[in-house]
Amino acid sequence: MTARMIDGRAIAAALRAELADRVAAAPVRPCLAIVVPTPDEGTAWYVRQLSRTADRLGIECRVVGPPVGADELVARLAELSADDTVHGVLCQTPMPAGITPVQAGSAIDVAKDVDGANPRSAGLLAAGATAYPPATAAAVLHLLRAEGVELAGRDAVVVGRSTVVGKPAATLLLAEQATVTVCHSRTRDLAEHTRRADVLVAAVGRAGLLGAEHVAPGAVVIDVGTNPTADGGLVGDVRTDEVAEVAAAITPVPGGVGPVTTATLLSHVVRAATPS
Ligand code: NAP
Repeated sequence: MTARMIDGRAIAAALRAELADRVAAAPVRPCLAIVVPTPDEGTAWYVRQLSRTADRLGIECRVVGPPVGADELVARLAELSADDTVHGVLCQTPMPAGITPVQAGSAIDVAKDVDGANPRSAGLLAAGATAYPPATAAAVLHLLRAEGVELAGRDAVVVGRSTVVGKPAATLLLAEQATVTVCHSRTRDLAEHTRRADVLVAAVGRAGLLGAEHVAPGAVVIDVGTNPTADGGLVGDVRTDEVAEVAAAITPVPGGVGPVTTATLLSHVVRAATPS
């Protein structure tokens, strides 16, 4: 079997086109405020990408700096949450000393928490209520939906249990009626679990951790991992070439989950600006 490569760039482009139409018809200009508490090269690159994409869609993007300390960060996030002209609030990592991502996220109003950083958002989602999931987890589900992958009653295995990717992806898959297994660094015999997956989500951050021996014939594999290579490239958690011989479909890295994550985050901002 040679797997279908899932084209994340095309799926993101379709989502952006839909968003541009919604923004054009919206009574207000959606506005995303991004707080960058500490300078970081990776964060700066992501924020530039996000700002450029937002701009092209007619979404205002306010990057709030300069770097702030812990108390000022909480005050800033609360202030932006109370600002009627701001619809989405995003706080980038790394955090300054003296504050955790959960503490910072707690200062963001749930209605504007477009990247699911407030633990209340996670709680609401787990309880089946409305809240924004972290954009990457939502992007995993968007990719599966766009590919027409049936989830109800299927076995989904998520490798990774972080608050930003693995856990919320598992919550969303469960809400879609999948039977969900979550694996992590203490899982014994990882392959025994992953080989049962109809849908396998890799969110670990270890280049090439998962190979053909981890994948059932015909599975759909979503590779969230982004691991920098020595030559300045990027690879996923999955050994794409060998897994492509077994799986039915797989997301490439780059060009899979990444572009859909950016578009999904902006879709949350548009939704926050135009509640139905
Ligand atoms: P993280 O917080 O470091 O979590 C990694 C998870 O992987 C942890 O739950 C860890 O288990 C588990 N793990 C580590 N080694 C393992 C092993 N050998 N076998 C099974 N599980 C193992 O990372 P993250 O923030 O979730 O990010 C995961 C990856 O996704 C990274 O490469 C990151 O760059 C990428 N990412 C991509 C996007 C995107 O838009 N494409 C967005 C966000 C993140 P324990 O809990 O037991 O430690």
